[in-house]
Amino acid sequence: MTVQENLSDINLKIESACRRSGRKPEDVSIVAVTKYVSIERAEEALEAGIHHLGENRLEGAMEKFDAIGSRAVWHFIGSLQSRKVKDMLHAYDYIHSLDRLSLAKEIQKRAEEGRTVSCFVQVNVSGEESKSGLDPEKTRSFIEELEQYPAVKVVGLMTMAPYAENPEEVRPFFQKLRELRNEIRSLDLPWAPCTELSMGMSNDLEIAVEEGATFVRLGSSLVGSEE
Ligand SMILES: *Cc1c(COP(=O)(O)O)cnc(C)c1O
Repeated sequence: MTVQENLSDINLKIESACRRSGRKPEDVSIVAVTKYVSIERAEEALEAGIHHLGENRLEGAMEKFDAIGSRAVWHFIGSLQSRKVKDMLHAYDYIHSLDRLSLAKEIQKRAEEGRTVSCFVQVNVSGEESKSGLDPEKTRSFIEELEQYPAVKVVGLMTMAPYAENPEEVRPFFQKLRELRNEIRSLDLPWAPCTELSMGMSNDLEIAVEEGATFVRLGSSLVGSEE
């Protein structure tokens, strides 16, 4: 399947989920997760009209970044080691995996003078041990503490739901992330507008959109998962 064909199906799903939940499709941005695919396939996504590309590792992504550069908006969606920040920060527009103060401190240290780095705070809403992210109970105080790192701007919250045969099962996790986002947004913290919700992958796209996702991260259903 071409990316364009996959995208047509995905757009129909987003439109119907928006209709069911009274939302506007233009409020949902698609991040094409290109971690398993070639530069050519990533280019195909851009040609299909997608602007946002997501990668979860530094290896491999840098080649794509060199080839594509600022023709895409780049999202780092994987877990991020502090010592890697200095090599990746210039390439990415968004980091979806901010989950500890030591990482915020490193971003502060490595960001170019005057730049604010758009970050999602990753929350482990399901409480699964294998998932990274903050405990929901600790998210608010974590974000309040980020005031000391002015290079970090919290644009929203991100979560990964557990895989479920029936995606309906993950709805409570997305609801919880939205409630937490609403709570933090209402604090009006200058460093944390927290308007966005990065949630929803190939398997649970429609549920995530119904529950308010503003960035969905799609790999296998959009660009494929193997070469
Ligand atoms: C791989 C990945 C995705 C995309 O997953 P698909 O199920 O292939 O759509 C989304 N988010 C994160 C954090 C990922 O690592």
